[in-house]
Amino acid sequence: MAHFTYLKPEQQEALRKTAEAIVAPGKGILAADESTGTMGKRLADIGVENTEENRRQYRQMLFTSGPEMPKHISGVILFHETVYQKDDNGTPFVKILQDQGIIPGIKVDSGVVDLMGTDGESTTQGLDNLTKRCEQYYKDGCRFAKWRCVLKIRQNLPSALAILENANVLARYASCCQQAGIVPIVEPEILPDGDHDLERCQKVTEKVLAAVYKALSDHHVYLEGTLLKPNMVTAGQSCKTPASPEQVAQATVTALQRTVPPAMPGVVFLSGGQSEEEASVNLNAINQYKGKKPWALTFSYGRALQASALKAWGGKKENLENGRAEFLKRAKANSEAALGKYAGGIQGAAAGKDLFVKDHQY
Ligand code: 13P
Repeated sequence: MAHFTYLKPEQQEALRKTAEAIVAPGKGILAADESTGTMGKRLADIGVENTEENRRQYRQMLFTSGPEMPKHISGVILFHETVYQKDDNGTPFVKILQDQGIIPGIKVDSGVVDLMGTDGESTTQGLDNLTKRCEQYYKDGCRFAKWRCVLKIRQNLPSALAILENANVLARYASCCQQAGIVPIVEPEILPDGDHDLERCQKVTEKVLAAVYKALSDHHVYLEGTLLKPNMVTAGQSCKTPASPEQVAQATVTALQRTVPPAMPGVVFLSGGQSEEEASVNLNAINQYKGKKPWALTFSYGRALQASALKAWGGKKENLENGRAEFLKRAKANSEAALGKYAGGIQGAAAGKDLFVKDHQY
């Protein structure tokens, strides 16, 4: 008799296979899990009302982009509402994705809340009934999940409390997901807000990731059945000396080498307010960087996959094909970047647009 109950070998195997499929060479994730409020802001930017029907229309456009999509996109993160929506013909979105060989995922956190007594820091809520909710999402076709924690860089931040609390809650979330057969994407996002330099971001990223992997170990999380969704290491948004893609690559890979075990199959970066083109060019530089990289290094972008598509669509039926074409352009660029083969320069409706949002909520 084993001393403790861990995941059974067959549970581990299933999780590992899902995680590996998501980070197959040249593939990455479309993060389309904007909460209703966040989607409202995106739609407001293009003058479209934030109704359930408009959100459905927009996501239907993305999920039916055509046969090129599954060549670049292995998984889509959905918001609860979207898991249960259908296309115009009554086919569930989940089935539409599955039929293309794309794995449906689900955002399971319920958002950030203030950590009392800190200088505006936060933790993320949503653990109540999480294993049960994951079991239901599994039945409904989801095979991976996302939970976003947020950390900030300031003179004396992040605090030890914020680092510890967010690492622990991510580990507890990961444990709940794995018990239900769902691969947890562990996302400790360090916001780009601030005028800090690249070195400071690297140092903070190392401390945060080290704490996350200590907590995952403490919670007996099966690393082979997880993915990591970190920020790239960049200089702060208002830093006077922005870093080149090569510098971002070196700082990012170094931070990961120092803290992320090789047992973890893949890093799926968030775009974090970079423009579409910046996010592709930086990912490409990361993959071209010469050095130890024992994990897949790919994308799980929200804004940097959708900005041009959203703009080209503008809420109009006659623009659906333009919207799809813009989305596929970015998906292809990022797919090439994940292989270190992106030549750069793909133009789009919003390719160079700064997508930074102060104190970003998701
Ligand atoms: P961005 O790529 O827009 O930063 O969002 C990705 C995401 O899913 C954040 O949780």
